[in-house]
Amino acid sequence: MSIVRDKSLWQSGERKIEWVKANMPLLSGLEKEFAAQKPFGGLRIALSVHLEAKTAYLCRVLAAGGAEMYVTGSNPLSTQDDVAAALERGGINVFALHGASEEEYFSHLKAVIEAKPNIIIDDGGDLVNIIHNEYPFLIENVLGGCEETTTGIIRLKAMEKSGKLKFPMMAVNNAECKYLFDNRYGTGQSVWNGINRTTNLVVAGKKAVVAGYGWCGKGVAMRAKGLGADVIVTEIDPIKAMEAKMEGFTVLPMEQAAKIGDFFITVTGCKDVITEKSIKNMKDGAILCNAGHFNVEINIGDLEKNAIKIYERRDNITGYVMSDGRCINLLAQGRLVNLAAGDGHPAEIMDMSFAIQALSAKYIAENRGKLKTGVNSVPAEIDKNVAKRKLACWGITIDELTAEQEEYLGSFNV
Ligand code: NAD
Ligand code: SAH
Repeated sequence: MSIVRDKSLWQSGERKIEWVKANMPLLSGLEKEFAAQKPFGGLRIALSVHLEAKTAYLCRVLAAGGAEMYVTGSNPLSTQDDVAAALERGGINVFALHGASEEEYFSHLKAVIEAKPNIIIDDGGDLVNIIHNEYPFLIENVLGGCEETTTGIIRLKAMEKSGKLKFPMMAVNNAECKYLFDNRYGTGQSVWNGINRTTNLVVAGKKAVVAGYGWCGKGVAMRAKGLGADVIVTEIDPIKAMEAKMEGFTVLPMEQAAKIGDFFITVTGCKDVITEKSIKNMKDGAILCNAGHFNVEINIGDLEKNAIKIYERRDNITGYVMSDGRCINLLAQGRLVNLAAGDGHPAEIMDMSFAIQALSAKYIAENRGKLKTGVNSVPAEIDKNVAKRKLACWGITIDELTAEQEEYLGSFNV
């Protein structure tokens, strides 16, 4: 059983999957190992991750390991219908439509939960929330799950604290081979790719306001600087604000940054980072986009409320004309600009993130019954294993400690 937009699109989806596969050597290696070992034999996996080509390849790797896969997207605008069609044609159960309504989006999440999964792979916490709230009778089937992103981990920790989380979850986002590369370099590159391909405007010499200087914000600010922008950071954490300052960026409150910015990128995981208080001060032509979480960081209701006209200016650009004639532009409906108006992080980056996912899922299968109910760290051996494999792919070798050095580093003596 599957729900996809148009099965005839499969060839285009297959080409996209073939391209990423050629650039995801870690997953290719795991596909071969899993095909031989079948770590997921007899297990059902429910997955909700942005359904584009790299995710499709992860699904095939898990299926090669013996898993019966039930797959949906994690954002209504990041699903690519041709990729979904290709996956479905290959025998994987897919429930995903690009541009799904709120109701459709949630019905697809429920469809993969109703498959009674043994392992859950989540991105943002929707699957885990729904199974706990609406399908508590299915929890007994779940050996454990993996969470892909920062906001998902925050939600899981809140559930754990209140005693509501009833099975083990692996904090994939918090693995070093995930956030240090995916959140920083992946978001840094793919956000500007999304903005550039959508707007086709110059960045050099303009003011880019980055809200949030966490791992994603650092990447977005770094690449904005590389493109020649004058970078302004807004923060609520004094230490992160100091880091931005020492990196050479201007640090301002949003209400002040609003008056001078050309591009605004929110990457905080927080809501209402841009509201009417800032919008009323923005310049004509300001470009607003979000790369953080769902569509809550920019208050779209405030944009609508203050606009006398709203119209589509280009694909993925909505113009909000204010009563004083200024037009404020919102990209990709305020949803993740890199995924809703692009293909997300590059293949080589998702190769690392998804190798952590695949090995964490295998760890759950191998350690069934032994993991702590609650949030579990990805074991350091998995992290090191992924880094070593990636270095090997690039033909990079590194030094090893001698026995004397190891003793020296582990001793109190000078
Ligand atoms: P992080 O915790 O490292 O950074 C978030 C930063 O935002 C923190 O420094 C925090 O102090 C700051 N912040 C919080 N509220 C703020 C506010 N109101 N104004 C200004 N700053 C504020 O998290 P991260 O790993 O950088 O992730 C940020 C968000 O991006 C999360 O929602 C995460 O799930 C998402 N994410 C998106 C992508 C993508 O592909 N677009 C990739 C990874 C993570
Ligand atoms: N579902 C939420 C959660 C944020 S998603 C939302 O849509 O707002 C952020 C995650 O997307 C990141 O942790 C990153 O690992 C993942 N991501 C980025 N590029 C991707 C890609 N090309 N394919 C699949 N996932 C990707």
